[in-house]
Amino acid sequence: MVMKTVLWALARSLGAKRLLDRVFGIEPIVLMYHRFSEQPQAGFVHRAALERQLEFLHEHCNVISVAELNEGLRSKRRWDGRTPIAITIDDGYADVYEILYPLLRKFDLPATLFATSSFIDGCLWYWQDKLRYVLQETAARTLVPSFRADQQPISLHTEADRELAWHTLADHCHVLTVQEREQVIRDVAEKLRVEIPYSPPSEFRALTWSQLREMSRYRVDVGGHTMSHPRLSALTPEQAFAEVVGCKTSIEAALGQPSRFFAYPFGFATDCNEAAETAVSRAGFELAFVSYFDRRLYDNRMAVRRFGVGTGYWDFLKVVNGLKRANCIRKGSMAEMPGG
Ligand SMILES: [Zn+2]
Repeated sequence: MVMKTVLWALARSLGAKRLLDRVFGIEPIVLMYHRFSEQPQAGFVHRAALERQLEFLHEHCNVISVAELNEGLRSKRRWDGRTPIAITIDDGYADVYEILYPLLRKFDLPATLFATSSFIDGCLWYWQDKLRYVLQETAARTLVPSFRADQQPISLHTEADRELAWHTLADHCHVLTVQEREQVIRDVAEKLRVEIPYSPPSEFRALTWSQLREMSRYRVDVGGHTMSHPRLSALTPEQAFAEVVGCKTSIEAALGQPSRFFAYPFGFATDCNEAAETAVSRAGFELAFVSYFDRRLYDNRMAVRRFGVGTGYWDFLKVVNGLKRANCIRKGSMAEMPGG
């Protein structure tokens, strides 16, 4: 790991970055974050890793706001010099304020947060988090969910087992209707003998509007992420529009400024269809982001590609140095990233 980082630093100093830029051109890269933690934890970027990443961006990149990206795309700007990077964060958990925000200030960097308005209102506990909570709290060592036709038990012995179980359950729930999903979560909670509290416990709680207001006065722009975080592609066009415009209205009323940018919940290709793009555009959002990348980075302003960021520093360097983008353009392939 250390060796890889050293090798990349060496390649950089020998001009590998300039060569990549010459062959593939300089285009902005949009980073996507979700959650932050104090200590290393699966699915989170912990404070020390985040600080190292932001320090690198501060020193070696041209960190731009999504508004600057939007303007650059609109005017077909030719970018030169250091790679332009935009920082985005989805969902609106409290850890954005507690961990990311002080570091953004420390390195004087702009970012855009895509907020789920009902979550900030305190009326929503993400279903994915309910599943996580149940799996964390249970004393059971196996689970046989009712939907498993083979009745094969899922192991819950180790932390890795529980992580795998969460993925199995979340993948199943992802494509269900709200009612079907609630039924599955109730069934799992009952089988694992865990009572789900009415409001999310602290690990899963949202930012407050007052924290959002404070951040928006600094350099954190607040974009939309729907009202209740549904898969927009599963809704009727009118339902999708209500989710998108309702979120925009709430954010603008609470912050007293326009909310111009949007990110699709989950954000995979199957979660955001043409009707969803129409709803987002009709609601007045100027730029919308998905949660994966492929060679069509900026072809569609209603489906701009992003690169997910994890804790691994080598992987982070590959993203911000354009190596991932270059690989993806060369292969013409799509790379799915953790969902938004
Ligand atoms: Zn999300």
